[in-house]
Amino acid sequence: MEKVILIRYCEIHLKGKNRGFFEKLLENNIKGELSSFGAKVEKIPGRYVAFGYDEKNEGRIIEKLKCVSCIFSFSPAIKIKTNYEDINQLCLSMSKDKSGTFKIETNRADKTFKMTSMQVSCEIGGNCLENNSKLKVDVKNPDFVINIDIRENGITYVFSEVIYGIGGMPVGSAGKGLLLLSGGIDSPVAGFMMAKRGVKVEAVHFHSFPYTSPEAKDKVLRLAKQLTNYCGHINLHVVSVTKIQQAIHKYCHESYMITILRRFMFKIAEKLCKQNGYDMIITGESLGQVASQTIESMTVVQSVLDTTAVMRPLVAFDKLETIDIAKKIGTYKTSIEPFEDCCTVFLPDAPLIKPRLDKVLEQESKLDVDALIEEAMSNIELIEI
Ligand code: ATP
Ligand code: MG
Repeated sequence: MEKVILIRYCEIHLKGKNRGFFEKLLENNIKGELSSFGAKVEKIPGRYVAFGYDEKNEGRIIEKLKCVSCIFSFSPAIKIKTNYEDINQLCLSMSKDKSGTFKIETNRADKTFKMTSMQVSCEIGGNCLENNSKLKVDVKNPDFVINIDIRENGITYVFSEVIYGIGGMPVGSAGKGLLLLSGGIDSPVAGFMMAKRGVKVEAVHFHSFPYTSPEAKDKVLRLAKQLTNYCGHINLHVVSVTKIQQAIHKYCHESYMITILRRFMFKIAEKLCKQNGYDMIITGESLGQVASQTIESMTVVQSVLDTTAVMRPLVAFDKLETIDIAKKIGTYKTSIEPFEDCCTVFLPDAPLIKPRLDKVLEQESKLDVDALIEEAMSNIELIEI
């Protein structure tokens, strides 16, 4: 008898010729997350089984599995050699202190096992009832279920709890993305959403020291650390845009500050993508949330890019929907700490809501854009998180 965890994955994504690739990737991701607990992971048809860990770590392993994308659900289970009497005894002990309604649900992959699924459920269900007068059977809407999974290889798993994972695709299956990570609520959620869809997320943060504080940067490091629960290790590129902002402030009309600054951010992000083999830029923008997130602003900013794709997973989210996810993934409390972002430095009284590209280019022509970008790129700090 051994305690294990049965892990079910989002099979819908794993069909077709690439199935093996997805399964191997997910297996490696699970192994990576659980290795520090000494847990091993094996593949059985349609499932993974984590085993060999110290039982006192089960709670922490469960928390880890809740963060691994592509896991549909998982169940702490008891693994035993297939033998009717042992299965029966196990179910009796699992139900002896319970009360309320229950059912036994049997799955028999091993067709050489002499009883049908229905017979196993009925017999063992009856025995549990005889053993505990506080129980009643309800097959439609029971308070708890005992599942008996009789596998082909002479092994049976018995479990009662089903915990849901985050779903999605295995991290690493959908390319690499560079997340524009501010200290706000939205961008960490955007990073989580893309990791959930299988993107290996790296990050860039722009600061404006000394106008922005070391605490603001520290906050971003902590947010990146929280994201590693879902994304694995993150390379965080930290870029100063102080000189860029000073130049815009000095030479351009103040209402263009945010539009032009954001074009610099995107251009630097694109260069980082090309240098590091990232496939896309990810932002936490949401349509119409602020002046810089109107369709006109987003179009003018994005037009600075050559070919790099921009992913905006929150584009159609209301703020409350984003906050809800931020709370679930544990970034919300950090995000609302009050530190300034570089976007809030030199903030114009009236930022452009509908910038026109020709006017923006006219303002930008007053700057030595290439030199400013080169200067910013030559002073990037890379932090491995
Ligand atoms: P957030 O809550 O993520 O800060 P926001 O509502 O404050 O978003 P903006 O400040 O307009 O919106 O930023 C939009 C997006 O631009 C952010 O979600 C983020 O992806 C990116 N961004 C903004 N500021 C920075 C920064 N200092 N460094 C890196 N990316 C940034
Ligand atoms: Mg922000």
